[in-house]
Amino acid sequence: MKIAKTIEEVRECIKEWRNEGLSIGLVPTMGYLHEGHQSLVKRACENDIVVVSIFVNPMQFGPQEDLSSYPRDLASDIRLCEENGVDLIFNPQSGEMYESDFCSYVDMSVLTEELCGLSRPEHFRGVCTVVSKLFNIVTPDRAYFGEKDAQQLAIIKRMVRDLNFNVEVIGCPIIREKDGLAKSSRNKYLNEEERKAALVLSESIQLGKKILEEGERDSAVLVKAMKDYIEAEPLVRIDYLKIVDSVSMHQVEKLESPVLVAMAVFVGKTRLIDNFIFSISENRSDSFYTSENRS
Ligand code: AMP
Repeated sequence: MKIAKTIEEVRECIKEWRNEGLSIGLVPTMGYLHEGHQSLVKRACENDIVVVSIFVNPMQFGPQEDLSSYPRDLASDIRLCEENGVDLIFNPQSGEMYESDFCSYVDMSVLTEELCGLSRPEHFRGVCTVVSKLFNIVTPDRAYFGEKDAQQLAIIKRMVRDLNFNVEVIGCPIIREKDGLAKSSRNKYLNEEERKAALVLSESIQLGKKILEEGERDSAVLVKAMKDYIEAEPLVRIDYLKIVDSVSMHQVEKLESPVLVAMAVFVGKTRLIDNFIFSISENRSDSFYTSENRS
């Protein structure tokens, strides 16, 4: 496994692999890798070559957010990549990605103006810009993103379509702890009490799925039931909990097409996100536990 710090090193490797006719899969991450990231890497092994980028992208953090405290453990990340068949880690410094006079951005409208985009106004501009750069640097055939960040996945798919990137974007299911909490690098911030309180996210999701499967189609009723459940836990504060069309991200009142039920919830000072997609026609949501974390 190679570890590249510069864009030039990555390009040299990619050139050699391309000359050999090999296919390339990219898994973009911010590091502090866990089983969620690992599932993306495993899926990416359907390519001949797997590239993982590890870069805590300053552009996607707001001024009051956790850029400086974001957890990092490169030694452990390298181990996980090595054990899972990664061929190349791209781990640039910020200056390698952004020259001091950097001034070109990928700025999407509409899809970025809902959900996380409302509370993190600069976030998706940073995400779209860095992912575009990674696509240009690595030129992958396929790129892998988690459904945990459902809005991000929808945005990247739209960006690829709108800007004609020659890459297939593949969404991978949410990986959870045994008790249901979605795996996240930010779970590290939680103390013991907050870790217990954080279960209201996944529990409210189970409640929401049950209500939908029983036939409820009024989104206000569903949102209220889920919010009431979450707000009964004193350590948490809801940032948003909304039901949107899973492609357009527009809020829906009557549930008719596949919908995304998405939330961001502060547990103490830690902001966690979670979601599920519900397909009305099939009266079915995607399975809650993946085979990897079924006990
Ligand atoms: P991050 O390092 O948090 O930027 O995440 C990198 C990628 O891993 C993103 O595409 C995330 O959606 C994905 N990811 C993070 N946590 C999970 C999880 N629990 N299950 C599946 N994918 C995840």
